[in-house]
Amino acid sequence: MSSPLSGASACSRLSPHIALGTVSLREVEQANAARRRTVKGTRDGWSGSLRSFSARLAWRDHFMQKLEDEPALEVRCLHAAYEGLRPKEPDAGRLAGWEKGETGLPFVDACMRYLIHTGWLNFRMRSMLMAVASYHLWLDWRSTGPHLARMFTDYEPGIHWPQVQMQSGTTGMNTIRIYNPVKQGHDQDPTGEFTRKWVPELAEVPDEYLQEPWTWDGARRLLGRRYPAPVVDVAAAARAAREAVWAVRRRDGFREEAARIVTRHASRKDGAGRFVNDRAPRRKRGDARQMSLDL
Ligand SMILES: Cc1cc2nc3c(=O)[nH]c(=O)nc-3n(C[C@H](O)[C@H](O)[C@H](O)COP(=O)(O)OP(=O)(O)OC[C@H]3O[C@@H](n4cnc5c(N)ncnc54)[C@H](O)[C@@H]3O)c2cc1C
Repeated sequence: MSSPLSGASACSRLSPHIALGTVSLREVEQANAARRRTVKGTRDGWSGSLRSFSARLAWRDHFMQKLEDEPALEVRCLHAAYEGLRPKEPDAGRLAGWEKGETGLPFVDACMRYLIHTGWLNFRMRSMLMAVASYHLWLDWRSTGPHLARMFTDYEPGIHWPQVQMQSGTTGMNTIRIYNPVKQGHDQDPTGEFTRKWVPELAEVPDEYLQEPWTWDGARRLLGRRYPAPVVDVAAAARAAREAVWAVRRRDGFREEAARIVTRHASRKDGAGRFVNDRAPRRKRGDARQMSLDL
C-alpha cells in the first residue's frame, strides 16, 4: 500500500464509489465482515489485512465527524497559533510548479503527474505531496488543498481537509511528519520504474542519480532546459520549516489550546484500537490519543 507501484492493486480503490455513494459503507463493511469470517484462523495474512481495511473505513467516519463538528477547519487552522505561519499569498511559481508536477524533485513530480492522469494516488504519496507543498515549498494549505481536491476523483471534504491540515502540521495534536521526497523515491520506487514512467525527461539520468539528478555530472545538460532545477534545497528547506513550526509550538498558551483540541477531536482509541481509559494519568492519556491519529 505504501508504494505507488503496487498501491493501485493492493488498495481497494473503492474511494470514488464510497465518496459518490455508488456503494454504501454498510455494504462494504458487511462484505468485509463476511470475508473475515471465511479467513478466520488462517495464517496467510488476510485476517490482518481485512481488519486494517475495516479500521480505515472507520477512520473515514471519524474524520467526517470532525468536519461536521467543526466546519471551520475547512478554512481555518485547527490550532489558531498556526494562522499566519505561512504567507497567505502563495509564491505563484512554486505553486504552479507543484500543481503541474514540475518542481524538479523527480518523485514528487512523478506522483503529481500520476494523480493528474489517473485521479487517484495511494495514501502515503498523498501525504508526501501535501507535506512537500507545506514544509519544503512553504505554501499555505488553503492554496494547495483545492488543487488536490480537484484532481481526486474521490474528493470527500470530511477526509480531505483534516488530512490536509494533518500533513501540514496545523492541527496542534498530530506528530509533525516531514517526508523527505528523495528518500521516499528510493524507498517506494527502488528500481525507478515509476519515476521514469511519469518523468520521461529523466531518461538519460543513471539509476543512482535518478532521485537527485542535480548531483549527476551531466545535470547541466538537463536541468533548466528539459527538466526544472529543484525548486528548493530539500534538506535546508526541511530544516527551516521544522524550526518555524517548533517556534510556534513553544509559544505561551500553545499547549492549553492543543489540549482542548485533543479533548474535542482526538480518537478515544489508542494505536492498537483499544479504548483509552479516561481516568488514566493525564500525560499518558494525551500521548495515547496523539499516537492514535498518527497514520
Ligand atoms: C492529503 C490527503 C487527502 C486525502 N483526501 C481524500 C479524499 O478527498 N477522499 C478520500 O476518500 N480519501 C482521501 N484521503 C485518504 C486516503 O488517501 C484515501 O481514502 C485512499 O487512498 C483511497 O484509496 P482506497 O479506496 O483504495 O483506500 P483503502 O485503503 O482501500 O481504504 C478503504 C476506504 O477507507 C477510507 N480511508 C482509507 N484511508 C483513509 C484515511 N487515511 N483517512 C480516512 N479514511 C480513509 C476511504 O473511504 C477508502 O476508500 C486523503 C489522504 C491524504 C493524505
